[in-house]
Amino acid sequence: MKIIAVGRNYSEHAKELNNPVPASPVIFLKPDTAVLKDNKPFYYPDFSTDIQYELEVILKISKEGKHISEKFARTYFDEIGLGIDFTARDIQQKHKEKGLPWELAKGFDNSAPVSRFIPKTSFADLYNLNFRLELNEKRVQEGNTKDVLFSFEKLIAYVSQYITLKKGDIIFTGTPYGVGKVNIGDRLCGYLENEKLLDFEIK
Ligand code: ZN
Repeated sequence: MKIIAVGRNYSEHAKELNNPVPASPVIFLKPDTAVLKDNKPFYYPDFSTDIQYELEVILKISKEGKHISEKFARTYFDEIGLGIDFTARDIQQKHKEKGLPWELAKGFDNSAPVSRFIPKTSFADLYNLNFRLELNEKRVQEGNTKDVLFSFEKLIAYVSQYITLKKGDIIFTGTPYGVGKVNIGDRLCGYLENEKLLDFEIK
């Protein structure tokens, strides 16, 4: 499986990192070795001193597809959950300045903690989902899927023009405002509509 992620899908977050709001989705990949499941602890890597959390709503692809039209895109995922797109911001910043790719800043081992998945049919409206992140029981990020710049269907349609989606692939749909640093000893809890899906420690 692979992880497909979108940068800058919430305008307030694009602004906080001084990035322009994009005209088309900014896409990057994380390898399968980035996945961290079952709320296992995240071990702080020694190549960075600025690991930042980005809480995101994630979609699990339910069947293979390419050149998917936006109209049918919703039939290509049936479960959603929460994920953290851990980012080595210091490495990303250096690479951005030189115009280099982000892989090492975004795709390192365990950089994608993912929650269990919930059937999308459990939610009345996929575009009115509140989600939030607590760092040591203090709320640090809060978003609502109504604020996405590119809908889930648009992301699926766009990506599948270039990359075949396969059953089991995960799409990270972008982070809202409020990204920040983690430190060893921190505890992160992620909530989707008041259900706690993520709860793990930084070690
Ligand atoms: Zn992200």
